[in-house]
Amino acid sequence: MADNTCACPHCKCVLGKNAVMKDGKGYCCEGCAEHHAHGEPCASSTGCECAKSAHA
Ligand SMILES: [Zn+2]
Ligand SMILES: [Zn+2]
Ligand SMILES: [Zn+2]
Repeated sequence: MADNTCACPHCKCVLGKNAVMKDGKGYCCEGCAEHHAHGEPCASSTGCECAKSAHA
């Protein structure tokens, strides 16, 4: 329980109040929780490129 960063492989966002729990892992947003399956951008808009990386 020490690590509160998003479980999305390329995301380094810290889990906040919008965090989504899925399969026992914490994601910072719905997009990450769905592994950006539909190209959803990361909710943390400050230059996080995890959504792009997911489609590489
Ligand atoms: Zn992200
Ligand atoms: Zn994330
Ligand atoms: Zn992500």
